[in-house]
Amino acid sequence: MNTILRKLQEVRDRVAQAARQAGREAPAILAVSKGQPVEAIREAMAAGQGSFGENYVQEASEKIAALGPAGPEWHFIGPIQSNKTTAIAEHFAWVHSVDRLKIAERLSAARPSHLPPLQVCLQVNISGEASKSGVAPADLRALAESVSQLPRIKLRGLMAIPAPAADPVAQRQPFRVLRELLEQLIAQGIPLDTLSMGMSEDLEAAVAEGATIVRVGTAIFGQRVAK
Ligand SMILES: *Cc1c(COP(=O)(O)O)cnc(C)c1O
Repeated sequence: MNTILRKLQEVRDRVAQAARQAGREAPAILAVSKGQPVEAIREAMAAGQGSFGENYVQEASEKIAALGPAGPEWHFIGPIQSNKTTAIAEHFAWVHSVDRLKIAERLSAARPSHLPPLQVCLQVNISGEASKSGVAPADLRALAESVSQLPRIKLRGLMAIPAPAADPVAQRQPFRVLRELLEQLIAQGIPLDTLSMGMSEDLEAAVAEGATIVRVGTAIFGQRVAK
């Protein structure tokens, strides 16, 4: 059996077991293909993987062009520069890493009218200074209210990349905070359904706290070529 198929099945098993243990529905798996060749994406697609995450617009654009209209669903998960918003709005179905209104406005304005609204998650800075990206929890509600009004964006939920933690208890804490922030926004009348959280090293903890999308790179594809 080829390696990507085998590793993908291992990840599916990990996710399914964590969901069973938590008594939760299993989340979707987003295969993070940054630093991986198009051939690796083709292999994962052949193994039934339908959605892929990329962090860099230039690298992603080449893969999206190579795979063409029969390609997978593309999710942008990296930091967003404002001069890249048009390319992102044209080529991706989802963006997980919106953290300021100006970027959301540009994405909405650039979303082509023949495509459905761009599916968006707001990235939250859960670990304080550990990460520079993400909206501060105190500013989240105002941002969510503004982004949810934009015509060509469908606000779906929240994303976070917590600082790495070794043990499962410490791993769960920031994921719990993100879930509680989502629940607060829903209670405040913003209809959201997505928690994008958990990567190769901490996906069990994220599933236990209610992840609906886990973003998994190395556990599926092995080590990537560094940027
Ligand atoms: C690279 C990356 C991932 C995947 O990380 P792995 O540890 O390889 O699973 C997930 N989310 C984001 C935002 C990333 O940049």
